[in-house]
Amino acid sequence: MKKLTLVITAVLILSTAVVVIRTLLHAPPPFADITQVNIDLDELALAEHLSQAITFQTVSHQSSSEKQDLEFQRFIDWAKATYPEVNSQLSLVMLNQTMLYKWQGSDNQLQPILLTGHYDVVPVIPGSEHKWTHPPFAGESVNGEIWGRGALDDKSGVIGMLEAVTYLLKDGFKPARTIYLSFGHDEEIGGPEGAAAVTAFLKETQVQLAWSLDEGSFLFKGMFPGVNTLVAAINVAEKGSITLDIVATAAGGHSSMPPSNSAITDLAQAITRLHENPIPGGLEGLSAKMFDVISRYMPFSTKALFANPWLFSQLIEKQLSASPTTNAMLRTTTAPTMLSGSIKTNVLPIEAVATVNFRIHPRDNTESIVAFVTDTVASDTITVRNRGGVNASAVSAWDTPAFEQIAQSMREVYGDIAVAPGLMVAGSDSKHYGKVADNAYRFNPFVLAAEDVSGFHGTNEKISVATFIQGTKGYIQIIRNGSSH
Ligand SMILES: [Zn+2]
Repeated sequence: MKKLTLVITAVLILSTAVVVIRTLLHAPPPFADITQVNIDLDELALAEHLSQAITFQTVSHQSSSEKQDLEFQRFIDWAKATYPEVNSQLSLVMLNQTMLYKWQGSDNQLQPILLTGHYDVVPVIPGSEHKWTHPPFAGESVNGEIWGRGALDDKSGVIGMLEAVTYLLKDGFKPARTIYLSFGHDEEIGGPEGAAAVTAFLKETQVQLAWSLDEGSFLFKGMFPGVNTLVAAINVAEKGSITLDIVATAAGGHSSMPPSNSAITDLAQAITRLHENPIPGGLEGLSAKMFDVISRYMPFSTKALFANPWLFSQLIEKQLSASPTTNAMLRTTTAPTMLSGSIKTNVLPIEAVATVNFRIHPRDNTESIVAFVTDTVASDTITVRNRGGVNASAVSAWDTPAFEQIAQSMREVYGDIAVAPGLMVAGSDSKHYGKVADNAYRFNPFVLAAEDVSGFHGTNEKISVATFIQGTKGYIQIIRNGSSH
């Protein structure tokens, strides 16, 4: 007995020692000796340009009949007039209302690159205009903040790139790689005439990009509990999506003599089963790498978990699954969004339908999701109808010179920060551009704090002038470094 106690004690001491040592070793990489850049920008002029850009109501509506073509044309004319250096020294091809600039590089041996953003925006929900502190299309600049639809998504990206190129042209910079710049007009409705047309054009002209950089993630500030440093999450993939109808059928009849089970109760049970059986996920591949990097900046107690997956993997996954944001990184998510049943209060339904939207993690695909859901809910009375979907994008490599150049550019602007590959939970035009790029990255070099997130597609979208200026410097460095070799 005494011997057993001794053995147990020894094992405990040993495991504790391993946990502590592994945690101590799980440190951030030492900050390389990087000189921060000193770029002098005309901040007032830049802010004024972004304000002006917001005033064009380049809204992508779900129905194309609502599109105000003239606003798009006015934006294009304004961009050409406001950035004369870009317009005269780069060549421009218009693909519908998407602008594709080409900046010829000096070394034809190097594969070209693409920087891209979109100048269309989502509508402001009718009736919600009064909730905006400053009107959504006035581009008002108040107390160092620029307000309006597109301030974050994604006019700041487009204007930041135009300002960056203007600065570099004036500075006499000549890229070694050819740089394409694409400013899309229909990203918010999937990019069928913008990014898709640019992709087809590049294919026709036999251009295969080394890499592309689109909107996506940001430098997150205070977004991860306990992490004080900025986290540049450079998205290397985007999730797919599939929508399934869960259909319950029954005999129907009068509601005065209901059977014990109806289409509605069967459907409710099916939805509960889906809720109780999330699609399996886990900390592996891209998600594992992302949390491995970020956890190095966490407090000791949290770090201890991530440094010792051999002991704590189940606990980590449970904790990450509990938060909607991190859960979405780990797995394909399940979101019931619509319900329908009977057409009248006293009629039992012959069919009840729940519509469920799944955002597909790169580890799954549309077929595997249909199979999982069918397996989980199908019965004599429940069937699964597929409304259609798309798989997740390919996962771009993050051990590439390009990823390192983007990371390096961020350190030159922001100092000692964490850089990790990330997964985009929404969609972007890169689902098109990825077809002509060896690697497709999705990242805006702007700082984003937790309180800014509700502005995306929401009310009171805004960006601070300081954030916009820093981000523009980010684009300058990305172009300098990314086009050099
Ligand atoms: Zn966007």
